[in-house]
Amino acid sequence: MKVPFLDLSIHDEEQLQNYLGVCERVFRHGRLVMGPEVSQFESDIAIYCKTKRAVAVSSGTDALFLTLKLLGIGPGDEVIIPAMSFVATANAVRLNGADVVVADVEDDFNISPKSMEKLITARTKAVIPVHYGGKIAKMSKILSIAQAYGLEVIEDASQAFGAKQDEKIAGTLAPIGCISLNPMKILGAFGEMGVIVTNNDKWADHLEALRYNGVHQQKSCIEVSSNCKPDTLQAALLIEKLKLVDQIINQRRANAEFLRNALHEYCICPYDDEGASDVYYTFTVLIEKRDELQSFLQDRNIESKVYHPVLTNEPAYSKVIGEYENAMKLTRSKLALPVNETVSKEQLEYITESVIEFFKET
Ligand SMILES: *Cc1c(COP(=O)(O)O)cnc(C)c1O
Repeated sequence: MKVPFLDLSIHDEEQLQNYLGVCERVFRHGRLVMGPEVSQFESDIAIYCKTKRAVAVSSGTDALFLTLKLLGIGPGDEVIIPAMSFVATANAVRLNGADVVVADVEDDFNISPKSMEKLITARTKAVIPVHYGGKIAKMSKILSIAQAYGLEVIEDASQAFGAKQDEKIAGTLAPIGCISLNPMKILGAFGEMGVIVTNNDKWADHLEALRYNGVHQQKSCIEVSSNCKPDTLQAALLIEKLKLVDQIINQRRANAEFLRNALHEYCICPYDDEGASDVYYTFTVLIEKRDELQSFLQDRNIESKVYHPVLTNEPAYSKVIGEYENAMKLTRSKLALPVNETVSKEQLEYITESVIEFFKET
């Protein structure tokens, strides 16, 4: 048996025909960028996330980049992000000319509110909690600290589309949230795409200009920005994919539960906090003999990943300041196992049997 970490090819014939039909419709009307499906998709996302507005953009990185620009964050400002994330979170800050400060993470890989508060200076303008692996960060604590210090809070919900905490959906706990729709993500497009959700109409209108090279109402450029417009094709395909997303999330949650039930005696497994419904973008376990387990699984054709090094380990960010002791500790023992909706029951059994075999042999 073989277990790829993620298989993005489409095997369901009915779905394939549906997507091909969508492509044909877009090719026939020919409005390939910012076509009618883009606003339809935005309204579908706003309904799903229960926000007033959704603004589609070309990627999750661009969603963060434009949101920081929208909030006027630039040279001289500091933005606090968790020490452990995909590097896009940091890049979006630096591309706006602001400085990145990393806060340590808790054992669930999410930003530590305590560490975050310690790092606040007179220059701090914003904090970007990342909902790591599909689990929402400690938002109520983060929001109350941010309010006390007058900081903006931008959620990076890229890994957590559809995750819930007390019935609130990832990306909507703070005043603004950014979501990647890259093919690997929970709601994955068939190319690059991202979306920003907010209840603030003024912000949403402004973002519509910012994604369009700073051109307001398709007339004149009143500020410097970039081209972050979404493709019509991606929006049209995502309208269909969104109809399946609850099914995708339920399958990931069921897969996670299966893995957790079988493995919790052998290694530290992720679980939902009180009142939370995680979406398991990753199922990241903690295990001392991580490298040995990874190669043991590789020998059995099971692909696993060590995702997201600590930011200071990236050459471009080696001089970044902040706190990252726990992140460094966790990064030595974390391993992401296949958990996505395409992993079959047989494959899940093969994964858990193999992990248990590893522990019996070593
Ligand atoms: C994927 C991801 C991004 C970037 O999204 P893209 O759509 O790939 O640009 C940003 N932050 C996090 C946490 C991510 O996982």
